[in-house]
Amino acid sequence: ATAQPALETLLSTRRRALGYSLSVSYQQPLHIVRGAGQYLYDVSGRRYLDTVNNVAHVGHQHPRVVEAVARQAAVLNTNTRYLHEEILRFAEELVATLPRELSVVHFVNSGSEANELALRMCENWSGTRNMLALEVGYHGNTGRTIDVSHYKFNGNGGQGAPPQTRILPMPDVFRGRHRNPATAGRDYAAYARQEIERAEGEGRRFGGFIAESILSCGGQIPLPEGYLREVYGYVRAHGGLCISDEVQVGVGRMGTHWWGFELQGVIPDIVTIGKPLGNGHPLGAVVCTPEVAANFANGMEYFNTFGGNAVSCAAGRAVLRVVREEGLMENAQATGQLLQTLLRQLAAEFPLIGDVRGQGLFLGFELVYPDLAPAAAPAKYLKDRMRELGFLLSTDGPDDNVLKIKPPLCFNAANAAQLTDYLQKVLGEDACKI
Ligand code: PMP
Repeated sequence: ATAQPALETLLSTRRRALGYSLSVSYQQPLHIVRGAGQYLYDVSGRRYLDTVNNVAHVGHQHPRVVEAVARQAAVLNTNTRYLHEEILRFAEELVATLPRELSVVHFVNSGSEANELALRMCENWSGTRNMLALEVGYHGNTGRTIDVSHYKFNGNGGQGAPPQTRILPMPDVFRGRHRNPATAGRDYAAYARQEIERAEGEGRRFGGFIAESILSCGGQIPLPEGYLREVYGYVRAHGGLCISDEVQVGVGRMGTHWWGFELQGVIPDIVTIGKPLGNGHPLGAVVCTPEVAANFANGMEYFNTFGGNAVSCAAGRAVLRVVREEGLMENAQATGQLLQTLLRQLAAEFPLIGDVRGQGLFLGFELVYPDLAPAAAPAKYLKDRMRELGFLLSTDGPDDNVLKIKPPLCFNAANAAQLTDYLQKVLGEDACKI
């Protein structure tokens, strides 16, 4: 075996050679060298159960995706200005997972690029860059996407909301302003109506509304029933477009549906897709209605050198095929339900767990003190201890007190049982006593 560089050497090279704003997970960072299915392996050969990675959607290094990429890479990889069947097959297979109205695909390389393009479509449609977005939302690392990402512009190093963005409160029924699930959808949607009415009174307009269907950076917050239907109604009546950011939640993770917006019974004008679509290969897509596509095609070409290249399309086709043929949506639903049940049992035993929520294999549990104050220190302790025990978890939410579970979709019942057994052990430790 070749000698491996020491952790310190890797860290110091990284600090010197890579962008200074880059962070690394854990105080003692992991040196991961291999992935397989729902597992990651470090340099010493230790195995970790990965409950974080919704990019390795069908499993780390899934052999069929690897094979599809390798096969296509050996034959041809070029841009979209030649005719090629792989991109057409992939576009048709992707569109077949979406409602009929969403039929035109623009291929890109990341979630950020997808949302950047979607925002340009809104501006083209409406003639304004003004947008409505949600509190603690994240939509990408480009200029326009940061402008609609409260999580970024409101956080460290941010400049606050730019004038073209209006932020709506996070529709959180656990600790938010409106907590009655029966009326929360309407109550939270009313903020969109108010912003739109105010804008109309001032002679301003909004080009659109962007949101995820379960809020990821917000802390795994499912939208209350009826929320998107109401907001979409207001935005469309005002002449704007509705974007569903499916970068985290899409491609079957919800278990019951391919796409998160379907949980709310709405059809967006534009859907943006990223992370899971290429199983780790850089691949994103913007799918829109023919009307939006026609409006955007105003004479200026949208060309993307790598977007839609044959190798990326082969990766994406393999992902869709594996989700179908391995029954991964069904697994997301069954295993997700089992895991929610087990987490609720833990919540009954440990009042530190105030809420268990989510859909399919996109779950979260929130740690709070008896007065509902966020328990961030126990959340960090839990994450760090679970890593020592061989489980990778992440925390998020505005107070960093929500544990997120969004594993590769091959995560199974035994994994769910093992994860919750160890969570039970750590929740019993002194640092988690309240
Ligand atoms: N939208 C959401 C909801 C995301 O979570 C992310 C990435 N975390 C993005 C967009 C941006 O995607 P990318 O990092 O691929 O550019």
